[in-house]
Amino acid sequence: MNDCIFCKIIKGEIPSAKMYEDERMIIIKDIEPKAARHFLMIPKRHYKLLSEMTEQDAADLAVCLKKIPQLTELLGLEGGYRLVINQGDDAGQTVFHLHVHILTGQKMDFPHL
Ligand code: 5GP
Ligand code: ZN
Repeated sequence: MNDCIFCKIIKGEIPSAKMYEDERMIIIKDIEPKAARHFLMIPKRHYKLLSEMTEQDAADLAVCLKKIPQLTELLGLEGGYRLVINQGDDAGQTVFHLHVHILTGQKMDFPHL
C-alpha cells in the first residue's frame, strides 16, 4: 500500500509521535488533536474498513482493544476515554486504513452518543 499514510507511518517513512508499538499495532498522537489528548490506534495490517476485515483482523483488533486499559498510565486514561472508528465519507473518514481514535483528557463536551 505505497500511498497509504498510515502504512508509511508504521514503516517509519513518515515521522510520528509514537506512544506504543507491538506486533499488531501502533498508537500515535493525532497530528490535529480534537480532544485534550487524542491518539490513534492503528493496526499494522492494511485494510480500509470493518467490512474488509478477515477473521484474523477481527481477532487482532480485539486483542488491540483489550490492550488499551493496560496502557492507562502511559496514555493518561484515568478519567475515562472515548473510542471512535469512522467508516466512510458520511462519518468523515479521511484515512482509509482502519484506525481507532482514542479521545481522552477532558469531559467529552460534544454530543453524547
Ligand atoms: P479519520 O478522519 O480518517 O477517522 O481520521 C484520520 C486522522 O488521522 C485525523 O484525526 C487526522 O488528524 C490524523 N492524521 C492524518 N494524517 C496524519 C499524520 O500524518 N500523522 C498523524 N499523527 N495523524 C494524522
Ligand atoms: Zn495502510
